[in-house]
Amino acid sequence: MTQAKIQRPSGMHDVLPEDQKYFQKIFDVVKEIADFYNFQKIDTPILEKTELFSRGIGLATDIVQKEMFSFKTKGGDYLTLRPEGTAPVARAYIEHGMQNLPQPVKLWYFGPFFRYEKPQAGRYRQFWQFGFEVLGEENPVIDAQIIQIFFNILKELKLENLVIKVNSIGDRACRPYYKKLLNSYFKSRLESLCRDCRRRFKENPFRILDCKVEKCQTIASQAPLIIDHLCQACHEHFKEVLEFLDELSFPYHLEPHLVRGLDYYTRTVFEIFEDSEEGKKLGALVGGGRYDGLIKILGGKETPAVGGAGGVERIVSLMKEKAIRFPREKKTEIFLAQLGFLAKRKSLKLIEEFRKEGINIFESLGRDSLKAQLKLADKLGAKYTLILGQKEALDNEIILRDMASGRQEKIKIDKIIETIKKKIKKP
Ligand code: AMP
Repeated sequence: MTQAKIQRPSGMHDVLPEDQKYFQKIFDVVKEIADFYNFQKIDTPILEKTELFSRGIGLATDIVQKEMFSFKTKGGDYLTLRPEGTAPVARAYIEHGMQNLPQPVKLWYFGPFFRYEKPQAGRYRQFWQFGFEVLGEENPVIDAQIIQIFFNILKELKLENLVIKVNSIGDRACRPYYKKLLNSYFKSRLESLCRDCRRRFKENPFRILDCKVEKCQTIASQAPLIIDHLCQACHEHFKEVLEFLDELSFPYHLEPHLVRGLDYYTRTVFEIFEDSEEGKKLGALVGGGRYDGLIKILGGKETPAVGGAGGVERIVSLMKEKAIRFPREKKTEIFLAQLGFLAKRKSLKLIEEFRKEGINIFESLGRDSLKAQLKLADKLGAKYTLILGQKEALDNEIILRDMASGRQEKIKIDKIIETIKKKIKKP
């Protein structure tokens, strides 16, 4: 009886060899920009205490209500596969006493995240994000710099037609009054809202503003806007952020309905989109904002902070759609073909010598047919093939075959690296 095939979990995917070059390119660009702006890399655990997210992101958010992969361990701890990176970074900042370092502390990360969402275009249950966080700085210039960093990464990856959406959602000085306004607005419309939103109304009416249900969106679109009710300090802060963005001539839009789905945000929030059919389908490529209250909520000292995260799969999908190319990968210049046990032994050693010299060499050590190996060398486009047969292995020689002309010469095995270096002009 044949066994049933086991497939990957729904909404999760393999990053196949053909996609690795996109992931690698994004990682390289992110790292280069992080180094330039003096961010340091941090890796936090894939699992965190569930409370980190319920307290940090907010009990009434969709992420905490519906989207977390949580479980109880054998030891009785409640753990969750991290759905986002900001709360773990804030936790690490507190736990390692980073508030005692010169401020701000600038950190970046790149890794997998998990949300139990309905799988669809641009929405997975395991996805990769890169993120930048600046902790311990209140100045609005940093909000603009964070936006600049993400915008530059996307530009560097050759994405065009980028649109930045920004808003300010106030702070604990102006939000309570705005919440009251929202309460009275939604109270008279409660019957027309979806069931989730009726619950959100009791827990946090702010969350109704990012409901995806159409009838709720229609109602929310007429709700009072926080931007009209900012306190003086938040108003000033936002004005300056916009002035910095103007200075950079960035294509931003004020988006008064942008609130983002996490409770920890204060003041500036932003998202970056690619303005095309495909881009619209995928949704935001990057999202972030200021989170001045989070570190205190998690048990640390009052610390202003701002950051954001970009979605790797969405960016990869746009790069593919737009057929964005990279410089050619490693060329196959040399192929090593071998025959017999002794030749295989000598090949292993020879390959190691090529590696030490920094010369790429391709082989198919498991094969015995010389014909098959030469065919493969041809297919890979090798310029030269080294042939180590049984006789050559005994005589300490190797055949060097020029694949274009078919010309062959015998060379002493201890001279082969030198000869190849001359042929491919490696110093
Ligand atoms: P968020 O923390 O929701 O603002 O996410 C930041 C970025 O990560 C988004 O702008 C997306 O590009 C990406 N992202 C978020 N959720 C998913 C998901 N379920 N699947 C793929 N990418 C996602």
